[in-house]
Amino acid sequence: TYVVLENCIKCKYMDCVEVCPVDCFYEGENMLVIHPDECIDCGVCEPECPAEAILPDTDPASEAWMDLNQKYAEIWPNI
Ligand code: SF4
Repeated sequence: TYVVLENCIKCKYMDCVEVCPVDCFYEGENMLVIHPDECIDCGVCEPECPAEAILPDTDPASEAWMDLNQKYAEIWPNI
């Protein structure tokens, strides 16, 4: 799965949401998140993000944000 990181906070771009083929972005408190059970790992969103806030879960930098992505995706609306 792919994970949204810190750089997304207060970002106003929605390029990732527009390109995701499975519509798995969710609104969070102050950032977007990816639902880990819905992401199909296509990787299309990563280069589209102007804030460079999206990484695969295989990248060590994403580890600290995985729980938050899951938590927000379960309680916030789909976007
Ligand atoms: Fe959507 Fe693909 Fe990005 Fe996963 S990797 S969030 S499926 S665009």
